[in-house]
Amino acid sequence: MTIVIAIDGPAGAGKSTVGRAVAAEVGVGYLDTGAMYRAVTHAVLCRGIDPHDTDEVGAVASSIELDIDDIDGRTIVTVDGDDATAAIRGREVTGAVSAVAANSSVRSEMVRRQRDWVAAHGGGVVEGRDIGSVVFPDAALKLFVTASARVRAERRVAELGGDVDEVEASIIERDRKDSSRADSPLVEASGAKVVDTTGMPIDAVVREIVEMLP
Ligand code: C5P
Repeated sequence: MTIVIAIDGPAGAGKSTVGRAVAAEVGVGYLDTGAMYRAVTHAVLCRGIDPHDTDEVGAVASSIELDIDDIDGRTIVTVDGDDATAAIRGREVTGAVSAVAANSSVRSEMVRRQRDWVAAHGGGVVEGRDIGSVVFPDAALKLFVTASARVRAERRVAELGGDVDEVEASIIERDRKDSSRADSPLVEASGAKVVDTTGMPIDAVVREIVEMLP
């Protein structure tokens, strides 16, 4: 049986950690769809294309060879044969990704690739912004994982370093762009269970979610 667990929520809410742990618990694969939008953004920037150039950016999304694999708790991303795992987490990509993700051609191409991935893997835990609302509206379990902006910024800083005020301002701005775009904005999908991880250790969050599994 194909089981899909959809996890959406704002930046830095703990979706990846939770998603991987739930996937391991259920015995299915894990797909970080944010890494896919980041990979397209990386390819766009490498080519010197303006992230707001709708046609050029759409053409990049449909032409690149994109491989994504989760190994030892890390999403490994290859773009046209080159390892982009570190580059997609950099400041430049993070600053431009919301513009690229607002492009409808990019979205339809990524959604197609995400559905192909699930079909090839016989299900999985899929994490992003529009998974329960658009990509897999019939998922067996839909979660909206969130936390206060301050806590999310503190977690990001613990993981990647940086100044907490700056990181908080940047994730608030990215959430604003992701929630206000016309195509597939970040929303709580209908039927999604909201999990607020503020003040909760991640293992407690995972336990709570595993108990919700059908
Ligand atoms: O999850 P992560 O922070 O890596 O996602 C990077 C960006 O990719 C988000 O800020 C959003 O603009 C975009 N994204 C999206 N839809 C998804 C996953 C990510 O638009 N399903």
